[in-house]
Amino acid sequence: MEKKIDVLIKGQGVVGLAAALHLSQRRLEIALSTDLTQQGTPPKQDARYYALNKSSKEILEAIDCWPTGSDVTELREMQIFGDHESELSFAPDRMKMPLAWIVKASSLNIKLVEKIKLQPNITQALHEGQNIQAPLTLICEGKHSAMRKKLGVEFDVKPYEQSAYATLIETGSPHHGKALQWFIDNESGPEILGLLPCEGNGSNKMSVIWSMPSQKASEYQKKTDIEIAVAIDEMTKHQFPNLKVIGPSAVWPLSASKAKQWIGHWNTDSAWALLGDSAHTVHPLAGMGLNLGLGDVAEMVKTLELRHEKEYWRKLSDRYLLRKYERARKTDILSAWLFCDAIQRLFSHPSSLVKNLRNKGLHGVQKFSFIKSFFMLQAGS
Ligand SMILES: Cc1cc2nc3c(=O)[nH]c(=O)nc-3n(C[C@H](O)[C@H](O)[C@H](O)COP(=O)(O)OP(=O)(O)OC[C@H]3O[C@@H](n4cnc5c(N)ncnc54)[C@H](O)[C@@H]3O)c2cc1C
Repeated sequence: MEKKIDVLIKGQGVVGLAAALHLSQRRLEIALSTDLTQQGTPPKQDARYYALNKSSKEILEAIDCWPTGSDVTELREMQIFGDHESELSFAPDRMKMPLAWIVKASSLNIKLVEKIKLQPNITQALHEGQNIQAPLTLICEGKHSAMRKKLGVEFDVKPYEQSAYATLIETGSPHHGKALQWFIDNESGPEILGLLPCEGNGSNKMSVIWSMPSQKASEYQKKTDIEIAVAIDEMTKHQFPNLKVIGPSAVWPLSASKAKQWIGHWNTDSAWALLGDSAHTVHPLAGMGLNLGLGDVAEMVKTLELRHEKEYWRKLSDRYLLRKYERARKTDILSAWLFCDAIQRLFSHPSSLVKNLRNKGLHGVQKFSFIKSFFMLQAGS
């Protein structure tokens, strides 16, 4: 006899897998459109690290998937440099909690896959032609989601004509949980270089995320490790005399995007909802993309719990419930989206008046402790 599926999940990224695990804990039958048992172990040498906030930590802890040991690093301090020597630093000594946690992407993925394999109420290996009758389909396919395209959902994309170049470096001295970010105006265009502390708080390894014009990023991918180390050394004004490139590199084109519609129905008994990058992307300068995606997971779980506890007569495809999810997340995402876009525009504006203002802005934020606290809480909550 065929198993009755409650929720079908399309997409095997962090958002899709975290949603599957959370919903499976709520006594729902879940189907994944991928067979994870056939997948090899994800590459250990992934160039990516995520800066995750407290809410994301709690969401991942609740499914026992929070990485441990050197796979997670507490972000304790942050220093931001603008052009013309302007500077801003956050060191929350008043607060015991770190600003954020830097998590190794490949370790998080391994944890999620291992956990999924142990869940009896998560079915895997559904192939394209297979007809699954699920009242609710969660689309977590990332920003190039094929399902979203098939559904004809309007997706507003704002390309930045920039790409993020990522690699791993060793600096020669322990980072003590301090991140550094440079906003620089170069001849070829504006650039943002971020160094994130990683591989544990005693380590001297830092993850590099460098947004630069796309043409320059593809040229950088052809450079040797030594050439890249020299370029980073120049950008960081020789802060790390023993800097070495030790990791693989990768390049991602950058854009901000958002779907117009996040939920919909095929018929009265089956509905769909977008989560994570399938619904929205932001510039990685603020390290918010996955935090927002995990926020979608938390809201979806909360919405379906409401049905389970109080409004049990509602179907999983219930329009009122799904609209509640869409409204709550659209509001949250919009403020993050506008914040990242405004910072990106501010730092890519060619006018000298704007350049002057933004540097004054950094000095201003440095002076007013109230605004600093706001930024710190944004990063840490
Ligand atoms: C350079 C860079 C740095 C970043 N740093 C941070 C950071 O520090 N903090 C942060 O919060 N965010 C960060 N982000 C954003 C973060 O990477 C994304 O927001 C996050 O990965 C989105 O997760 P997702 O699961 O929605 O999508 P994805 O990670 O894109 O996963 C979707 C997966 O589903 C698969 N898929 C597609 N179609 C199907 C299908 N039909 N069936 C099965 N599988 C399918 C895809 O191949 C993909 O593996 C960064 C992004 C970039 C580019």
